Amino acid sequence: MILLQNILVDGTPKNLFIEGTRIRRILPYPETEGLIADETVDCTGKAAIPGFINMHTHGAMILLRGITEDVPLHSWLSRIWEMEARVDEDFIYWGTKLACLEMIRSGTTTYNDMYWFAPYGRQAALEMGIRPYISFVILDHFNKETAEKQRRKCMKLYEQSLDWSEASHLAMSVHAVYTVSEEMILWASQFAVDHGMKLHVHVSETEQENIDCRKAHGGLSPTEYLDSLGVLGPHVIAAHSLWLSDHDVEILGRHRVNCVHNINSNAKLASGYHFRYDELRDAGANICLGTDGASSSNNMDMLETMKTSALFQKAWRHDPARWPLHELMDAATVNGARALGLDTGEIREGACADLSIIDTDNSSFLSPGSFLANLIYAAHSDVISSVIAQGRFVMRNRVVEGEEEILTEARKVLKQIL
Ligand SMILES: [Zn+2]
Repeated sequence: MILLQNILVDGTPKNLFIEGTRIRRILPYPETEGLIADETVDCTGKAAIPGFINMHTHGAMILLRGITEDVPLHSWLSRIWEMEARVDEDFIYWGTKLACLEMIRSGTTTYNDMYWFAPYGRQAALEMGIRPYISFVILDHFNKETAEKQRRKCMKLYEQSLDWSEASHLAMSVHAVYTVSEEMILWASQFAVDHGMKLHVHVSETEQENIDCRKAHGGLSPTEYLDSLGVLGPHVIAAHSLWLSDHDVEILGRHRVNCVHNINSNAKLASGYHFRYDELRDAGANICLGTDGASSSNNMDMLETMKTSALFQKAWRHDPARWPLHELMDAATVNGARALGLDTGEIREGACADLSIIDTDNSSFLSPGSFLANLIYAAHSDVISSVIAQGRFVMRNRVVEGEEEILTEARKVLKQIL
C-alpha cells in the first residue's frame, strides 16, 4: 500500500491510500485509521488531480512531428500518407513509447488511440504503465480487396484481445466517411455492437469533408449520413465533431455520442475552431478532449489542450464565461472515463488509482485564487512532479524510467523512415 501523505485534494489536506490498482481510502490529514503503508510519500505542498484521458490521438505519429508544417489538412494528409507507407512494427513500438513518455510527463494516464499495428502500440503502452485503448483501424479507400483483408485481420485481432487483461482494451475505428466504404462502415459498426466495442470515427473535421459528403450522399452531412446508416449510439466516439449544423448537434445529442474536441490540431491545420461546446453538451452529447496526433498538434499535452479549448471558445463567442474551469477539467478526465466505460477520471475511494501529483510550490500557484485557474491558465505541465497509473508510479520527480533508450531507439527508427 502507498500513502500519499498530506496531499491536497480539492483544496483540503488528505492522507490518500492506494492499494493495488485502486484508491482505497482518502482521510483528512493526519488521520490514518491505523492503515499501514509500505511506502509513505510526503506530499506537503503538493496537490492531487485525476490522470488525464486523451480521448483522440494517433500515438506513434509523434515520430512524424514537424515533417510538414504550415499546410492545410489535405496537403498535410497526402505527405503523411506517403510517409506512412513505410511505417512498420518498430516504428509503432518506439513511436508509441515516445508518445507515452510525453503523455506521462504531461499527466495523461489513459489514451484512446487510432493507429496501425495496434498490438505493438499496446505492448509499448503497457510497458510504459499507462492504459491504452487501442483500435483496429478500418480504412479501405473504397477498395473491395483491402476491405476483405481488413475484415479478416480485425476478426483475428479481436480473438487475440479476448486474452488481454483489464489493463488494455480494443475498440473499432472507422477512419472517416471519406476514406471508408459504406459496406465497411456497416460491417465495422455491426461488429462493434456484436462484441460490445467502442466505435471511434473522425467526424466533420473540416468544412471540405462536409461538402464532399453532401455531394456523395444525397445532401447528407457526415453526422446525418452515419445516422442514416444506424451506426450512432453512446458507444460512438466522434473525433473532432467540428463543422456541425443544428441538426447534427441534435442527432449527436440524441444518440449520446461522445464528441472529442481537438483544438490544437484543428487550429494549427486551420480546419476551424467553432466547436459547439454548449450546444452539444445541452443536447446530451458527452464532451471530451484530445490532442490528436502530435504530427498535427505537435504535442500530447492535455493541460495545454484545456487552455486552448477554453480560450478559443471564449474568444469566438465573445463571452468569458464559456467553458468554465470545472467543465474543462471534467472534459479532460471523467467524461473520457464515461466514454470508455472505465472507473477512473476522479479522485475517489474505490476508483482506479490514476492521478498526477502537482507541485504547487512555484510562482504559478502563488495566487490564492482558483487552483484550477492556476493549473490550467498559468502553469505548464512541468508542475506535474509525479504520475501514478493503475496504482504504480510511472513518473517520480519528473523522471520516467527508460527515457534515454526511448530517445535513442526513436532516432534510429526515424533515420530509416525519412
Ligand atoms: Zn485524428
